Amino acid sequence: MVDLREPDGTEAVENYVDGAWQTPTGDDEQALSNPATTEPLGSVTFSSESDIDEAVRAGNEAFEEWSQAPVEERIQPLFKLKTLLEEHQDELAEILVQDHGKTLAEARGELRRGIENVEVACGIPSMMQSGSLLNAAPEIDESAVRKPLGVFAAITPFNFPGMIPLWFLPYAVATGNSFILKPSEQNPLVATRLFELIDEAGFPDGVVQLVNGGVDTVNGLIDHEGVEGISFVGSTPVAKLIYERAAANGKRVQAQGGAKNHIIVTETADLEFAAEKTVSSACACAGERCLANDIVLVEDGVYEEFTDLVVEETASQVVGNGLNEETDIGALISEEHEQRVRDYIDTGVEEGATVLLDGRDTEIDGHEDGNFLAPTVFGDVSEEMTISQEEIFGPVLGLASVDSVDDAIERMNRSRFGNAASLFTGSGADARKFRHEGEIGNLGVNVGTSAPMAFFHFGGWKDSFFGDLHAQGEDMIHFYTDKAVYIERWPDA
Ligand code: NAD
Repeated sequence: MVDLREPDGTEAVENYVDGAWQTPTGDDEQALSNPATTEPLGSVTFSSESDIDEAVRAGNEAFEEWSQAPVEERIQPLFKLKTLLEEHQDELAEILVQDHGKTLAEARGELRRGIENVEVACGIPSMMQSGSLLNAAPEIDESAVRKPLGVFAAITPFNFPGMIPLWFLPYAVATGNSFILKPSEQNPLVATRLFELIDEAGFPDGVVQLVNGGVDTVNGLIDHEGVEGISFVGSTPVAKLIYERAAANGKRVQAQGGAKNHIIVTETADLEFAAEKTVSSACACAGERCLANDIVLVEDGVYEEFTDLVVEETASQVVGNGLNEETDIGALISEEHEQRVRDYIDTGVEEGATVLLDGRDTEIDGHEDGNFLAPTVFGDVSEEMTISQEEIFGPVLGLASVDSVDDAIERMNRSRFGNAASLFTGSGADARKFRHEGEIGNLGVNVGTSAPMAFFHFGGWKDSFFGDLHAQGEDMIHFYTDKAVYIERWPDA
């Protein structure tokens, strides 16, 4: 295999089906490039219907034995995979930076969060157990069990290409299912290297497979009668489409969508600490995070002081190629996406927000063609402004003053999204109110970015999520299994 850390521009991304690498045979393809330099990395050809058929067939054949394998046997490749991922973490991070644009530190952190999910799934022998009761009725004992179901597919976005596949894959296979990943066509190189390591980890052929492609590939998987269920992570309009289509096909589905996240800063907060965490939350990964808190509601009395601190902290961020260790903010995924973020900034200006820091005129020496934007800070962002309502997915931060914590919570709850929010405060009463009243899936108190560890579920509310069971942890075991109850009588002979 080619060393993906040093791409020569000719990498032709392959599928991993039935334990072997195969060239996809569809008609469409997408060119891949490094977001920091726009240099070509290679291309990905999309999978055809017969590529999907072959993967689903292999997955179902593998399921026959895999679902019956002792649970201890099923987790051995996961232990191996954890070790391999840790041994290759720096190498994967270098690939991720060139494929995505984020910084090395962010890439390493992302991979660590992915590995945590492999670790949690290694605990399946305990986690998958259900209850049993002797003498549930006269001479009758009852026990509940969880059974795997077949082939599951996950469709993942571009922004965490190393972590998000691992929200699903380890749990799907540990519970005894087969699994197919369809990564983002914008940056499939990390998944390619991940599957080379999966190949080494020793799963039986067909248990874990990689199928590349775009919209048609996704629809092919959702419509295939050999696929039991779909996990999706991506933008809200697509999440809704996937949820509806999979449900119409009678499949299990969980679909995580986009976001618009708020930070609330009260007069009792440690303002310096809050400003540092706020800027990191909004600007890390160049703002391309579903957990980025980019609307900041600040109590009147500290609005000016806090705004000054945020502007100062934001202005100190170093923008550049993510491969340089001193870079704080890397490149955006594509030229089109950079333009989309620029359009949002223009709209913010047109709609009357106050520009406190303008990141639009950034040029990075030696990277004149790269997809870079320095962070932009807006003040006086009123609720009805587009930049207060819509997900920007770039390094753009908006501040507004509010009369009280109650006002801030009410404004936050009027958002159609409900993925994450954070409160900075010194008041337990404010924290309690925020936790009780926030209509949000991930609520942080004095935490900049509320990302739960792998042993907790991960998922939003409202238009940020369609389904019932979220990603990660115990929810995944429920999603990937169905329950049965054994009711038994064995009269004395
Ligand atoms: P996207 O919706 O464009 O693409 C996600 C996946 O869906 C890709 O694999 C893509 O091939 C596929 N896809 C795209 N359009 C499709 C269509 N019309 N029909 C079927 N499949 C389609 O998302 P993206 O730009 O890759 O990722 C960014 C989005 O993901 C942001 O909105 C972000 O908030 C969201 N996200 C959410 C979470 C979460 O946990 N809620 C986590 C990460 C990212």
